Amino acid sequence: MESSHKKKIVISEPHPLIDMEIEMLRNYGDVILLNTTREEVLIEATQEADLLIVDFARVTKSIIENARKLKGIIRHGIGVENIDLETATKRGVVVANIPDYSTKTVADHTWALILALTRRIVLADKYVRNRLYVNRWENPPEYLKGLELEGKVLGIIGFGRIGREVAKRAKGFGLRVLAYSRHIVEEVAREVGAEPASLETILRESDIITLHVPLTKETYHLINEERIKLMRKRPYIINTSRGAVIDEKALYRALKEGLIAGAALDVFEIEPPPEDNPLFELDNVILTPHIAWYSEEALRRLVTTTVEEAARILSGELPKNLINRDVIQVLKKK
Ligand code: NAD
Repeated sequence: MESSHKKKIVISEPHPLIDMEIEMLRNYGDVILLNTTREEVLIEATQEADLLIVDFARVTKSIIENARKLKGIIRHGIGVENIDLETATKRGVVVANIPDYSTKTVADHTWALILALTRRIVLADKYVRNRLYVNRWENPPEYLKGLELEGKVLGIIGFGRIGREVAKRAKGFGLRVLAYSRHIVEEVAREVGAEPASLETILRESDIITLHVPLTKETYHLINEERIKLMRKRPYIINTSRGAVIDEKALYRALKEGLIAGAALDVFEIEPPPEDNPLFELDNVILTPHIAWYSEEALRRLVTTTVEEAARILSGELPKNLINRDVIQVLKKK
């Protein structure tokens, strides 16, 4: 009986390639796109749903308990803190994320920020546009003088998917790469030309520090006043991970006092950052609006991986990126 039932797929929020995704998903069932994060709308819409696909919408206990036919929830992206995993597991609902879609794009963006900071690209662009480049024979101003990368030390904190891709790209620039992670495998680091190091060594020896840890209780304010004091080389700091990994107030003070040469941030403690965020005043800071993941290639990968996971879940298989592994035991008893 189960196989004759036409499957129902609900998507809470659209993304730029949603039309492509819907067309592909139609091979597996009826697709409903909601454009909401509101719980009451989601409860109503998922009552008969087999699959729910969400971005930032909170998938609460009430939603899961009311969706009697629900087999799975897919998070368009990485973090699953918006999904009630406990209830999903209890009810035998598999939860999957799409962990790898933007790895290479984020690594590229990290490099764009490293180069923009060390080569003063944003300031130089303003200098030309503001008609300050008027005399070809005059020396450029001191503040446009950049840093040469060869031989410098790049410290990578968080050596997972993105951290490793960032390391790979460092080879071409002749940097020495130090890597710190919770569990670091020496061979994996060496393979991409990095040396495992302690956090303290990275803080002490790096000319450029880039952050690629998830936000957890342990990584909250990992870069704080105390750790900034350990930085000997007036490093540049890049953050494309999560804003709260850096204590922004401590960062601001360190940038003002010159303990840190510059910072490039794609993520903020509060997003979007409030208008009075003092970092806006500083010239040695480059800011991007949480777009490190955003490329045509990443979006396409997001769509194809989501559809592959949807197909697996709807045909009764486990998704490849299963988050709530305990659900396997619950499903066995069903
Ligand atoms: P990953 O899980 O592959 O790697 C994270 C690494 O951090 C792992 O090696 C892990 O061992 C390490 N780690 C975790 N806790 C740690 C701790 N307390 N101390 C030291 N190391 C620790 O994740 P990833 O795919 O490389 O992504 C990294 C982060 O980048 C994500 O968690 C996400 O927050 C962020 N991200 C941002 C964007 C963006 O658009 N700005 C896009 C994708 C991901």
